[in-house]
Amino acid sequence: MEIEFFSLEGKLDMSLKTYKKKRDFGKTSEPAGNKKSSGSKPIFVIQKHDASNLHYDFRLEVEGVLKSWAVPKGLSTDPSEKRLAKPTEDHPLEYADFEGVIPEGEYGAGPVLIWDNGTFENTTTDENKKNIPMKKALKNGHATFWLNGKKLSGGYALTRTGSGKDERWILVKKNDEKADARRNPVSTEPKSVKSGKSLKEIEQENKE
Ligand code: MN
Repeated sequence: MEIEFFSLEGKLDMSLKTYKKKRDFGKTSEPAGNKKSSGSKPIFVIQKHDASNLHYDFRLEVEGVLKSWAVPKGLSTDPSEKRLAKPTEDHPLEYADFEGVIPEGEYGAGPVLIWDNGTFENTTTDENKKNIPMKKALKNGHATFWLNGKKLSGGYALTRTGSGKDERWILVKKNDEKADARRNPVSTEPKSVKSGKSLKEIEQENKE
């Protein structure tokens, strides 16, 4: 089955190789994944994840996978706040619905909740105002996009700094009508947009 899947899915599977290698799907309830598109508009998700360190996994749907970054402080609504984003492996599109507990001994063990989700629009353009496809923009190291989420909305920019093992990205709110330096949703809106639960409640539920 594995061989057949590889030959059918080709490119997509290449991109999810690291994701699959890191996980035992007999043990974790995370999805193995083979969905190719979520619908007419690309989706984004931010998963609050209490693994060895609490962080926010920011994921954007790009050509059949979720491009992913771990953002220790989460996303800000204040354009003067630069947030560090460490690239992580591509995740399958189904991962956008995942909320639960990754079991002890598995990669990323700990509770995960869907902190925000929605669709996004790629707003990256070249010097002639021509749209640059998301995959290319990320390859170039700079992408801008408009989020339509429940907690977060408006323009954001992702810019790569460093390369190879030192690859890091900076994620910042654009200064538009959705910018608001007084809001701090990471601390004032800590719960799941899917279930309304906190990480503690998700962890507790899993034990019962
Ligand atoms: Mn994570």
